[in-house]
Amino acid sequence: MRVAIIGCGQLSRMMALAGLPMGLTFSFVAEADEDSRCVDGLGEVIRRSEASSAAELFAALGKPQVITVEREQVDIELLRRFSKLCPVHPNPDAVYQCQHRGRERQLLAKTGIDCAPYQLALPGELAQMSIPLPAVIKSCDDGYDGKNQWRLKQPKDSKVFAELPRQDVAYLVESFIHFDRELSQVSARDRNGNIVHYPLAENVHTQGILSHSTAPAPDVSAELAQQAQRMISTLMTEMDYVGVLAVECFAVGDKLLVNELAPRVHNSGHWSQSGSQTCQFENHLRAITGLPLGATDTHGVTGMVNLIGTDGAPLDSLDSHSQLHWYGKTVRAGRKLGHININASGHDVLQPQVVATLEQIKPEGE
Ligand code: AMP
Repeated sequence: MRVAIIGCGQLSRMMALAGLPMGLTFSFVAEADEDSRCVDGLGEVIRRSEASSAAELFAALGKPQVITVEREQVDIELLRRFSKLCPVHPNPDAVYQCQHRGRERQLLAKTGIDCAPYQLALPGELAQMSIPLPAVIKSCDDGYDGKNQWRLKQPKDSKVFAELPRQDVAYLVESFIHFDRELSQVSARDRNGNIVHYPLAENVHTQGILSHSTAPAPDVSAELAQQAQRMISTLMTEMDYVGVLAVECFAVGDKLLVNELAPRVHNSGHWSQSGSQTCQFENHLRAITGLPLGATDTHGVTGMVNLIGTDGAPLDSLDSHSQLHWYGKTVRAGRKLGHININASGHDVLQPQVVATLEQIKPEGE
């Protein structure tokens, strides 16, 4: 069976690496200037500029049986045209809802799921807002890894408003949440509506970028786990979602506030490559190709440390219970270039190993 993926980054790479042993073949859609090194040797890369229509692109991709995405910022019209030619999972409407923070908030409101207090406003209206400060201004689209976000400390912070890249579009203005920790729920839903859940992962971000995750997250009560699973099941069912979905949350006491939905495999699920019976990449492929979902039982606990802006492997951290993954990208400051998964028998054993790994990859001078 042929699967086409829109995008050529590390998520596409890891999906293909999980799918090749399942007998799947892959092709990838790249933008004209997109770096496709991550998927070198894993399938054909077709540039959008090489085809004049969705049908031509579909043919060049090898007439796939199913099409999926590795990022939410995709051309929805193209996805809709593809969906007339073969199944597209997750469906274009679900991707459309998740690619814009305003639409995402509407979905949360509709399904009764909590998030931080927010307003949507044009830059010219920001000074009149009544949102509790400090607040974070976020662009509605094209925001990831903390990009396109600005802190607002004073109500009439005109310098911030003037810096916003566009004055003619609405921004999401959200109260700053003093969370206890960040948790994410990653789950997969198949074509028949069956859902499997990975355990909640605890995530630590540095300057908006995920630094490391631990899964299962420590000290998660049965109520908190159920709250997360209920929430994601509601969202998946509402969107008739097929594939892996990630929901990033702020944990405040025993309550989860949703920060963001990712309609795809997610960085906070990479730990599952060595920590779960079926990794998120395989489960996404099983879901979209119509196979039964795989078990998500865990092996001990797993730490995932992102290798950001460095190609120096933390070799001292590698032992018989750790795995190194490089994405084949060129080195650039702030760029996710790989990750290391560390498996351990318990959090007390894992914690010092994660700290030691972070210490090794710290840029000089910090
Ligand atoms: P995002 O791009 O929205 O996923 O944000 C990236 C990171 O910035 C989050 O994982 C948080 O660590 C932080 N952040 C975003 N929004 C807020 C908020 N309203 N309050 C506190 N921290 C936030």
